Amino acid sequence: IFKNEKVLLEYNIVYLSDLEATLKYSLDHEITSRSIISGEALESLIGYLELLSECFPTNIRGKKFINLLLDSIRDKKTVSGENLGEYVNKYEFLISPYVTKHKWIGCQGSNAMFRQYPCGLWTLFHTLTVQASMKNLDTFNGIQVLETIAGYVKHFFGCTDCSEHFMGMVTTIKNNVSSFDDAVLWLWSAHNQVNQRLAGDVTEDPMFPKVLFPIKRHCETCRNNVTNEWNKSEVLAFLKKMYSTVSNKQASNV
Ligand code: FAD
Repeated sequence: IFKNEKVLLEYNIVYLSDLEATLKYSLDHEITSRSIISGEALESLIGYLELLSECFPTNIRGKKFINLLLDSIRDKKTVSGENLGEYVNKYEFLISPYVTKHKWIGCQGSNAMFRQYPCGLWTLFHTLTVQASMKNLDTFNGIQVLETIAGYVKHFFGCTDCSEHFMGMVTTIKNNVSSFDDAVLWLWSAHNQVNQRLAGDVTEDPMFPKVLFPIKRHCETCRNNVTNEWNKSEVLAFLKKMYSTVSNKQASNV
């Protein structure tokens, strides 16, 4: 059905390299480039780092890195991006928190203007919702996981259009989410709405067409064969498997 079926076949693999590239970009370009972070933005940042500390699929050094960053801002009323950037550099140097070379693999576009960070951010967010569910966290509930993600999108995601669209969807969380699994499905559905809206858009990488996810090749049972409706328990099982199995493969061009 798809022109680029070969490419789409790899669409269901999560690479740690992409997740680490996303974390690094988020720290170096989105968070620490802000002049002053205070009030609701600072609360959102603390929540984001707390969720990462619990759910980012890293090793002990990565976790320590995130926790040290948290300690450097937790009791402050105001933080300057520059100051936080100094902590990021210092702890990166001291701890070497990244397992991979943090290059794009799954989120590599057919050219540099496509995919990369926004793709990585979705991948990170899905991973966080799934890890929260698998770990059955007691520090967050399903709604709080999504609100923490929304807090990051609202205050730090540099794509203002994306942020505004996403914040429009966030209003539906309270009525639809009461568990961690609901949160996984809410984000899946929100992402599919975005995919649908952007299909054929100038931002679409021609090599990676926007499709309703997952495609049949990846999950035969995710849709009813007759009505084509989603079978949500199968979708949930598929997402949990996909986003809890993280590949440590390194990019071949490094
Ligand atoms: P992406 O859509 O980024 O998907 C990344 C990966 O996630 C895919 O490779 C696939 O493996 C997996 N995936 C795809 N769909 C699902 C799903 N439903 N559930 C689980 N996994 C899935 N761009 C705009 O132009 N306008 C917007 O309003 C906009 N809003 C955005 C809001 C957010 C919160 C984010 C993070 C990004 C937004 N973007 C928006 C960017 C856009 O959605 C894509 O990220 C970007 O175009 C790159 O697309 P991509 O082909 O790499 O795949």
